[in-house]
Amino acid sequence: MVVDVCIIGGGMAGASVAYFAATHADVVLLEREPHVGYHSTGRSAALYAPQYGSALIRRLTAAAGAFLDSPPPSFADAPLLARRGFLTIGGASQRGALEQHEAVARASGRTTLERLSGTEACALVPSLRAAAVDWALLDPTAQDLDVEALLQGFLRGARARGARTLTDHGVTALQRTANGWRVRTAQHELEARVVVNAAGAWADETAALAGIAPLGLVPHRRTAFIFDAPESVPIARWPMVSDAEELFYFKPEAGRLLGSLAEEVPVPAADVQPDDFDVATAVDRIEQVIDFPVRRVLRSWAGLRVFGPDRDPVSGFERDAPGFYWHAGLGGYGIQTAPAMGEFAAAMILRRDLPAVIQDTGVEASALAPARLRR
Ligand SMILES: Cc1cc2nc3c(=O)[nH]c(=O)nc-3n(C[C@H](O)[C@H](O)[C@H](O)COP(=O)(O)OP(=O)(O)OC[C@H]3O[C@@H](n4cnc5c(N)ncnc54)[C@H](O)[C@@H]3O)c2cc1C
Repeated sequence: MVVDVCIIGGGMAGASVAYFAATHADVVLLEREPHVGYHSTGRSAALYAPQYGSALIRRLTAAAGAFLDSPPPSFADAPLLARRGFLTIGGASQRGALEQHEAVARASGRTTLERLSGTEACALVPSLRAAAVDWALLDPTAQDLDVEALLQGFLRGARARGARTLTDHGVTALQRTANGWRVRTAQHELEARVVVNAAGAWADETAALAGIAPLGLVPHRRTAFIFDAPESVPIARWPMVSDAEELFYFKPEAGRLLGSLAEEVPVPAADVQPDDFDVATAVDRIEQVIDFPVRRVLRSWAGLRVFGPDRDPVSGFERDAPGFYWHAGLGGYGIQTAPAMGEFAAAMILRRDLPAVIQDTGVEASALAPARLRR
């Protein structure tokens, strides 16, 4: 098989690139697992949070907003976004964090944060203990994001444009050819003009298959779990609640609550499992700010957030390996930035002009290029 573009990795990163690239190129996507979205993509907190992450991430998140808000007809059966809100709460000893949050928002050129008093925050989330909330910041523009619908929408759209998705196809070897790359899996060998490394936590390992030095992309474990509020507590309209120093968060999720310690533990790439101690610590911290006990953890899981040395994503060609394109290091923002990042990557791969939605953000290709991490 000979294709224009071979994408390695069937998570949100690979799927979004496949969707946008398939309009102009012959695309195949290879996923090692039996199902797409099995790793980080299937384990997220499913939030679109415009006031989260670096200034670069915030611009890319804003750029993705138009697509998520109003996807093309027949992309998804239901809206991808749903009203949620993001409430950052701080105690008296965390006053310093308030100015810091506001300064980062200002620096990104977007100030959708609203200052709330502790009383106003407790009016939004009546189960918050008044003594635990000295101040709060509300981002009313944060929304729940239907991750599965977005992933399947990208893949369905890519298929409609002729792309093929092959699961159970782990790439085991990459070899440079005169016109691009020879890609080997256990079952197949194919040739591609461009190889896209969207292998998430395995991106550095995948580059090594091609003899390319690692960029220093490190997977970090984050644990999440589901618990119930008492039946008498109406939680559906609560915003996501996050500690000022990200020591925990919780948010409504399908009639229940999703909690997390919001930890970042560097670990080797693997099918990570939740750590019971992290779950217990998060429960303890959440119980310190809400007025009901967490009686039972119904389900817990862990996933990987992958960061490079400067914590911003990588999307660009490897300078000394023609046809090898990195699309990785998406940290805790790979879902909310996916439409913008996917469209950016497709334009770069196909050597087309950057789409207006990216140009309008003022984000330069050099800010995402792997070369910045090689210096
Ligand atoms: C607890 C948690 C909460 C999060 N919450 C949010 C959130 O609210 N909003 C948000 O935007 N982001 C969130 N994230 C981050 C988000 O999940 C990631 O940024 C995103 O899923 C990364 O997508 P990806 O495609 O790069 O990685 P993945 O989904 O991990 O996909 C990479 C794929 O590559 C495959 N692969 C690897 N090597 C090979 C190979 N050699 N051959 C073939 N296939 C290969 C893997 O099997 C995997 O399926 C969260 C993450 C976690 C863990």
